Amino acid sequence: MGKQEGFVLRALEERDVRFVRLWFTDVLGYLKSVAIAPAELEGAFSEGIGFDGSAIEGFARVYEADMLAKPDPSTFQILPWRGGGDGPATARMFCDIEMPDGSPSYADPRFVLKRNLSKAADKGFTFYTHPEIEFYLFKDVPEPGVEPVPVDRSGFFDHTAQSYGSDFRREAITMLEAMGISVEFSHHEGGPGQQEIDLRYADALSTADNIMTFRTVVREVALNQGIWATFMPKPFTTHPGSGMHTHVSLFEGDRNAFFQAGAEYQLSKTGRQFLAGILRHAGEITAITNQWVNSYKRLIGGGEAPSYICWGHNNRSAMVRVPMYKPNKGQSARIELRTIDSATNPYLAFAVILAAGMKGIEEDYELPREAEDDVWSLTERERRALGIDPLPMNLRDAIAIAENSELLAETLGEHVFDFFLRNKRAEWEEYRGQVSAFERDRMLPVL
Ligand code: GLU
Ligand code: MG
Ligand code: MG
Repeated sequence: MGKQEGFVLRALEERDVRFVRLWFTDVLGYLKSVAIAPAELEGAFSEGIGFDGSAIEGFARVYEADMLAKPDPSTFQILPWRGGGDGPATARMFCDIEMPDGSPSYADPRFVLKRNLSKAADKGFTFYTHPEIEFYLFKDVPEPGVEPVPVDRSGFFDHTAQSYGSDFRREAITMLEAMGISVEFSHHEGGPGQQEIDLRYADALSTADNIMTFRTVVREVALNQGIWATFMPKPFTTHPGSGMHTHVSLFEGDRNAFFQAGAEYQLSKTGRQFLAGILRHAGEITAITNQWVNSYKRLIGGGEAPSYICWGHNNRSAMVRVPMYKPNKGQSARIELRTIDSATNPYLAFAVILAAGMKGIEEDYELPREAEDDVWSLTERERRALGIDPLPMNLRDAIAIAENSELLAETLGEHVFDFFLRNKRAEWEEYRGQVSAFERDRMLPVL
C-alpha cells in the first residue's frame, strides 16, 4: 500500500469516518456515488469496488457490465455538510473506473481527460484551467411547467443588505475551502438570483474534480438554506445564461508557455497556435462544451455569451478573449474560452479543448486576425468578409459537425464518442417534437 493510501486509512480512524463515498462521473457529467464502510477501503484501494456499469449512462454494454471503482487517495476529503466536527463523519474520494481485467475503462470521462493530459505531458506540457462558474438560485424546488422565481432582483456586482446571494456565497465558499478548493472571486451575476464563483487555477484534472465537487456543494448549501441552485445553461428567455468561462494555459515545467514578453498581448507563439487550434476546431468541440438542447439558447448573441467563432482582446462578443498582462505577471498569461457552459461534463470539455489546442501547436496553425468589432452588431455580410463563422446554432447542428470530427473521435475514444452522439441525437429527437408555450401563445389567439 502506498503512502497516500496509508494516510487515508489513518484519517478514517482519527476523524471517526463511518461512510466513505466513492464518486465518479458518467459520460453526461452526472455525479455517481457509492458509499462503503471504512473496513472495505483497503480492498477498494487494491482491487476496486465492483458495480454494475450497465445501469450508468455511457458505461453500458452488456458484456462489460461489471466495472470496478478504484478510489484515488489524493482526492480524499471529509464532507463538511455531513457530520464532522465532534460526531462521526462521511468522506469522499474520486475514483478511476477499471474493467474486470484491471485496464482503465474507456467509458470513464476521468480517464478520457487523463489520457489527453498524458499525451500533452509527453510533449512537455501541463494544462491548467481556471473556471468562472455561473448559476442561478431560486426560491423553491422546481415544479414541472412552472417558471422558477429567483431569490433576488439584484444584478451584476450588486451589493444588497441581507441578500440571499451573499449569505449563500459565504457559506458555499467556506465549505469549498474546507474541502481544499480555493476560491478566487465571487459576485452577483447579471441575472436576478444569478451568482458567480471563480475557482483558483489548477491542473485540469484537479479542476474537473473540483467542478464536480462544486456543483454538489452548491446544491447542498442551497437545500440547507431552503432554496434551489441550478447550473442549467439558460433557465430564462429574458435573462442571461450561466456560462463557465474557462481560462486556460499550458506550462512547460514551471514556465508559462503562453507568455512572451514584448509579443502582441504578451502571447507566445505556442499560445497563438493553441488559440488557433481552438478556433479551427470550435465547431467540432461545441457539442461537448455545450452539450444540451438548452445550451444553444444561451449562445444567441447578447448576455455576454458568444455566438461567433473569433478571438479578441477585451472584446466580450468574442468566443475567446486574450487578456493583456504586465510583463511581471507573465505566469498568469492565459486565454479565456467563453462558449463553455455550467452544465458541461468538465472532464470531457477539458479533454477536447486541450486536444484542439494541441492540434494547433502540432500542425502550426496560423492565428486568424483578431475581431476588433462587436461581432454581434455586424451584418452577416460583414462577418463573412472578415471570415467569422457562426457557432452551431442548436444541438442538431452541433451533432452534425461533431459526428464528422476525427479530432473528437480520437480525443474521446470510440466508445464515448459513439455513446455521446447516440444520446444527443435522442435528446434532439425528443425535443424536436415538443410543442412550446411560445408556439401556443403566438398561434392560438389568431389561428
Ligand atoms: N453570463 C454570461 C454567459 O453566459 C457571462 C457573463 C460574464 O461575462 O461573466 O456567458
Ligand atoms: Mg461572469
Ligand atoms: Mg469571463
